[in-house]
Amino acid sequence: MKDIGIDLGTTNVLIYIKDEGVVLNEPSVIAIDTDTKEVLAVGEEANKMVGRTPAKVNAIKPLKDGVIADFESAYKMIDEFIKKINKKGIKKKTVIICCPSNVTQVEKNAFYELIENIGAKKIYVEDESIVAALGVGLEINEAEGCMIIDIGGGTTDIAIISLGSIVTSNSIKTAGNSFNESIIDYIKEKYDLLIGEKTAEEIKIKLANLNDIDKDNYLEIKGRCIKDGMPKTINITEEEVQEALIPEIDKITVEIKKILENNTPELSSDIVDKGLIITGGGALIKGIGNYIHNKIKIPVFIASNPLTCIAEGCGLLLNNSKILNKNC
Ligand code: ADP
Ligand code: MG
Repeated sequence: MKDIGIDLGTTNVLIYIKDEGVVLNEPSVIAIDTDTKEVLAVGEEANKMVGRTPAKVNAIKPLKDGVIADFESAYKMIDEFIKKINKKGIKKKTVIICCPSNVTQVEKNAFYELIENIGAKKIYVEDESIVAALGVGLEINEAEGCMIIDIGGGTTDIAIISLGSIVTSNSIKTAGNSFNESIIDYIKEKYDLLIGEKTAEEIKIKLANLNDIDKDNYLEIKGRCIKDGMPKTINITEEEVQEALIPEIDKITVEIKKILENNTPELSSDIVDKGLIITGGGALIKGIGNYIHNKIKIPVFIASNPLTCIAEGCGLLLNNSKILNKNC
């Protein structure tokens, strides 16, 4: 196996092998036996257990809001993923691991130590926003500012990049998970119905639409009535999901405006001309580009590879060792 790049996200983990491409793309979940501490499953298989685990099984999401919240579980999860792609591991390999821009040095070091513990020869901790920008094909080394917005599972990370570095960035905890929570709260309030995280996720993927809504598109969902504790079924429409999501998306637009206002006029005018690009799973919400464009009046583009651009950016870095930064 050749050198690898890892996008260790809150929701998904992707591994890129040099000259081969993305070879692994699985949920960031690990299932552990609570008695023996043995790993029962990782990724897709472990994700199926979330919300359905018996007492002796713990389905853990080791990352929270972009950072490693449970080091031991994160280590076991990545170790298993690496074994899946190569039994011999990464002993003699160079590994690039991406880390969010707005984290403390301690949080950043944890990404390094995780890979160090697995035993790579050389480790680079790279900035996610820069790698994402490379992965979507932006010319990041120009003296012209560009803005990249990554709407992931735990956080939305907004960054302005110029001359290959981050000029300003911010991270807010409004993203995929909080969109699901809004849907849960909306349904609880309107229908006295309690639904789980998985159902909210399904509703979001099937019905989230910020464009003109399709009045005929709805989903029959099951949950538990909070009044009598009994199972109950309702129909939820695109219009209702839009209503639940708009306050969340508005928090993101407010943040984009703030970053634009607090920048040099030169950089802001570059972005007003060139626009901004959205990556991450949130970029897949129908009409999000249009919605944000209408709020902030600058061009908005959706990455063609929103879920894989960080892994693909790692691929570009692996082929160009001159631009790799040695961190930590
Ligand atoms: P992370 O980098 O944090 O792991 P990702 O960029 O992989 O996150 O995005 C995961 C988030 O994107 C999840 O919250 C998921 O629900 C959301 N997502 C994925 N596909 C869609 C879709 N089609 N519509 C809306 N949200 C989506
Ligand atoms: Mg991500």
